[in-house]
Amino acid sequence: MSKEQFFDNTEVAFSLKSNSELNRAYLLFKMISYEPLVKVGKTLSNFAIKANLPVDSVIRATVFDHFCGGINEKDCLPVIDAMFEKGVSSVLDFSVEGKEEESFFDAAMEKTLEIINFSEKKEAMPIAVFKPTGFGKPSLYTKKGEGKPFTADEQEQWNRVVTRYNKVCKLAKEKDVELLIDAEESWMQQAVDDLVSEMMQKYNTEKAVVYNTLQMYRHDRMAFLEAEHKHAKANGYYLGYKIVRGAYMEKENERALKKGYPTPICESKVATDENFNASAKYILEHLDVISLFAGTHNEMSSYIILDLMKDKGIAKNDNRVWFGQLYGMSDHISFNLANRGYNVAKYVPFGPVKDVLPYLIRRAEENTSVAGQTGRELMLLSKEKTRRKNAKNN
Ligand SMILES: Cc1cc2nc3c(=O)[nH]c(=O)nc-3n(C[C@H](O)[C@H](O)[C@H](O)COP(=O)(O)OP(=O)(O)OC[C@H]3O[C@@H](n4cnc5c(N)ncnc54)[C@H](O)[C@@H]3O)c2cc1C
Repeated sequence: MSKEQFFDNTEVAFSLKSNSELNRAYLLFKMISYEPLVKVGKTLSNFAIKANLPVDSVIRATVFDHFCGGINEKDCLPVIDAMFEKGVSSVLDFSVEGKEEESFFDAAMEKTLEIINFSEKKEAMPIAVFKPTGFGKPSLYTKKGEGKPFTADEQEQWNRVVTRYNKVCKLAKEKDVELLIDAEESWMQQAVDDLVSEMMQKYNTEKAVVYNTLQMYRHDRMAFLEAEHKHAKANGYYLGYKIVRGAYMEKENERALKKGYPTPICESKVATDENFNASAKYILEHLDVISLFAGTHNEMSSYIILDLMKDKGIAKNDNRVWFGQLYGMSDHISFNLANRGYNVAKYVPFGPVKDVLPYLIRRAEENTSVAGQTGRELMLLSKEKTRRKNAKNN
């Protein structure tokens, strides 16, 4: 691992935060580090939104403003421009979840097309993203993945899903904007993988434009990566992968237990960490075919990737290697990497407050003290507060 641990530089990490924003972030992480509070908050906000209670302003002033760029794309522009001044790019992420109407799927596709068109002209936004369940029903992906026959109506719905994928991937290729496709729960992912592999073969003919996501908490993903690599090499196209650890571990384990099949999740955190690092290494060893977007807040994995890049003589700004973090989290990684000249992009979620609630709840849950990273965020925020106070007194 790197001798030089530069993620600890809080001056760089929080250079965009005013003192009051720093204090707000500190308070927020303090609050969500307390797991019972997050549990109560989740129940209350779900209830309040369903009951149409006017809680938007409370959510906005707390978690929403910290983890989201705004309600619409325009709201996000000041954030995007400010981050880009520090070398950090943005991936605008339409984070509305849990909708199942065809009109919503069409609207989400239109939004993605708009963002790709906009990205072509905006240097600060070189990458776009969409979520598979933004383009089609979860039950449809599940049924397709299980190989069960569709009814005529389902077949039509599926054809529309395929058309949506084709439209956005085709435009991404035309506009030369990388397009990330998020990963979801394993029971939907088989159908997503098949479809995205098809898109990569069709559109990644000159370089990786379409990226699938590998959730490395799944113990079968290294074998999948190797098989996809073999297929791409044999058929002459490029692969792009966002690697992440995976966000749905509890759900995965619960479903596996309930339905009586072996869990797809690695046996321990250490095993997931090793699997994640192995996938990064494998991709960096095959950059001639595969491009990497490392979506992680894990410092050790980030340092390991930096070391591998150095060992292999990969330029810091090689466009085939990107680091990604979520807006509102791990600025110490994003801004310090960008400060050193690496390619970094932050997901900037946006959408109406009540519709991004599932996303916000996931962020709050993964930031409880039990899940781990909050202690680190709090320590860094507190360090920066002290640094500023001392600088003022000197
Ligand atoms: C830019 C970006 C894009 C993302 N896109 C997606 C996406 O498309 N799909 C998705 O699912 N997630 C996505 N995520 C979330 C991601 O999967 C993780 O939940 C989150 O980043 C935390 O993992 P970490 O690598 O930052 O590191 P850490 O905080 O070190 O790791 C925490 C993760 O380790 C795993 N883990 C924890 N305990 C155990 C255990 N006992 N056994 C096995 N594994 C364990 C879990 O995956 C957990 O989330 C994305 C994250 C980022 C930063």
